[in-house]
Order: sequence, then structure tokens, then C-alpha cells
Amino acid sequence: MREGLYNKEVVCPVCSKKFQATKVKARATKVKSRDSDFCVHYEDINPIYYDAWVCENCGYANQADKFEEISHNEADILRNRLMPKWNKHSLSGERDIDTAIEAFKLVLISHDYRGAKAIDFAKACLRIAWLYRYKGDEEEELKFIRHSLEYYTEVYEKESFPVDKLDESTCVYMIGELNFRVGNYSEAVKWFSRLISSEEARKKPALIEAAREQYQLVKEKLK
Ligand SMILES: [Zn+2]
Repeated sequence: MREGLYNKEVVCPVCSKKFQATKVKARATKVKSRDSDFCVHYEDINPIYYDAWVCENCGYANQADKFEEISHNEADILRNRLMPKWNKHSLSGERDIDTAIEAFKLVLISHDYRGAKAIDFAKACLRIAWLYRYKGDEEEELKFIRHSLEYYTEVYEKESFPVDKLDESTCVYMIGELNFRVGNYSEAVKWFSRLISSEEARKKPALIEAAREQYQLVKEKLK
């Protein structure tokens, strides 16, 4: 395996079999730049390629930090309904962009089966959008930005914050930003203004600053 990557043995919470999850050493990643929706561009190895783990035996897939967190009930559903349909193959080892996209789409399938939360769908869709951005496929990128936007909006409307590690201000920013990216400029203005004028957001000066910059850009578009 190439330098900077290593394997970790993981016991699948769905089928109880072991598989090798490939991880990236922290010192092997180097940030090149960050986009306004927090998509990070890396020199050389991109850790986002490896953030979706897939069990080769049953097909259960999830983001690495959530992989072991599913309930017994969810594991039963996946074992009974996903596993019989799974065409066994391994996504361990070095990944190219298409394998990374495949891994994240498998995460969405597992999310569907077990009825995951809106925040889980929002994150996975955003990462797929970023992968298509790296690939230069704008049409697919926007398709997944739209899906992610729907889920972030659902999180905002239905959940009480913080949701996972997501606070309300960051969620409002994301809804503004994703609306901006899909061309819903008046919606974007609404969400950015909401953030700029909120008491809660004062705790996050960098986020307010980013919202102000994006607000100006949207205003330009609306002229
Ligand atoms: Zn499994």
C-alpha cells in the first residue's frame, strides 16, 4: 500500500465479520485550500476518499466515525435486507475518485435501509458533491448539493441544536451557502442575513465574516 495509508481491522457491527478499513495517517495530509462550503482541497492524499467504510462481507457502509454506532435494530434490518442483495467485493486499499464515490453511495444505501437521520444524509450527500467537484463533474455535483440542501433544511426545521457536532449557526450558514451554489439567490440572501443578525452567531466571528463575504457575492449576482 502506498505511503501515508494503513489498514485497521474492524469488526462489522452488522455481520460480525472482520474486514480491513483503510485509513490515512494524519501527517500524510496537507491542506491546499478550503472552499466556502468547507470543502477542503488537499495536496497528494485526500482523507475524504477514505472516510466511508464498507464491509465487504455484508455491504454495510457508513462514515468512519459513525461506523460502530448503529443500534441492534438497525443492524438487524441491514443483515436481513441489505446483506442478501450485496454483491461481495472489497473497497479496502488505495482508492481512486470513482471508488470513493461508490463507497459514499453505499453509505447512502445503508442510510436508506436503516432510516438514518437527516444530518447523516446531509453529510454524505455533501461529501459526494465534493468528490464530483474534485472530478470536475458539475452536473452531478449540483445534484448532490441539492440533496444535501434538502436534508440540511430538514435538520434546521425539525431538530434541536446541536445536532451531532453541528451548531445552529453553522447549519444556517450551510443552508445559505448551498442555496447560493444551486442558484437560489434570494433564499441565500435570506439565510445569510439571518445568520449575520443573530445573537447566537456572535460566538462565531469567523463564520459571520464568511457569511458577510458570501452575502456580498450573492448581492452582486442579484443585481
Ligand atoms: Zn458486515
